[in-house]
Amino acid sequence: MNGHRSYLLALLLGLLCGLKSQAAEIRILTTLPVIHSWAANVAGDAATVESLLPANVGPHDFQFRPSDLRKLAAADVVLMNGLGLDTWLTRAVTRGASKPSRRVVTVTDGLQPQLIHHLTPLAMDAETTGSKKSHSDHTHNHGDEDANPHVWLDPVFAKHCVSNIIQALCQADPAHADGYTRRGATYLQELDQLDTQIRSSLKDLSNRRIVTFHDAFPYFCRRYDLQLVGVVEEVPSVDPSPKYLAQLSRAIRKQQVRVIFSEPQFHPRLVKRLANDLAIGVAELDVLETGSASRTFYIEGLRRNLRTLESSLR
Ligand SMILES: [Zn+2]
Repeated sequence: MNGHRSYLLALLLGLLCGLKSQAAEIRILTTLPVIHSWAANVAGDAATVESLLPANVGPHDFQFRPSDLRKLAAADVVLMNGLGLDTWLTRAVTRGASKPSRRVVTVTDGLQPQLIHHLTPLAMDAETTGSKKSHSDHTHNHGDEDANPHVWLDPVFAKHCVSNIIQALCQADPAHADGYTRRGATYLQELDQLDTQIRSSLKDLSNRRIVTFHDAFPYFCRRYDLQLVGVVEEVPSVDPSPKYLAQLSRAIRKQQVRVIFSEPQFHPRLVKRLANDLAIGVAELDVLETGSASRTFYIEGLRRNLRTLESSLR
């Protein structure tokens, strides 16, 4: 009987310890779904990862609500993109919801020397190239730091961001550092494989010229040697002027672009009309700014884009 009771006691203690260690898990809060996806791979079951952005709202349209302060207040580590894309978070963090031990980490830190600081100009000829507009000239939240913020679409840059995440989690939660390092290393290998796969799949394409909807792909194009002939939205979040669309159409004809890429979070109306007028195709590339995050969200998203590019540009 006694043995039975002490067994029950041990079981109860075990349960309590289990509960306690669960409660001690650190809480990670992310802005973009890609950052959520990266963090989930590094965190495994050692930490909880939560997103600020609802699945159907992109970072350019997100408004920080008072109810988000609760998530912010509970977070031990906050992971953001920076480069002006999630400035609403910086403002909220400085305003309050303070947890003295909280770390706010900009995952793109260290990429500064490799950033692109101008909007993609039309690749046509001297009269229309050389747009001096920068990312800080427009109302799109891309602005504050004057660089194009879409670094995640380049898997090599993604590796840099993931390394920053590994380091941040190890510092915030040293007890689980081994796990973060191990899972992080495995994920970095997967990103390497992704980079290799994209490189070899795109290397022999006959047509390397593309037009996208908003100015999200310059890093991807630079990495894989595609030519971004132009973007439909001259200024992000602003309807392009008829004059600009006429210039874009001329560039598309001159460069023999065969397909325009729309994006899932924007209505394809404008792209379809333009492609119709020019008698060329339409396909969709995902900039991964919206969607419900999961561990596979980032790599699967880029693989989907790769298949689209292969079939559209072959
Ligand atoms: Zn964007």
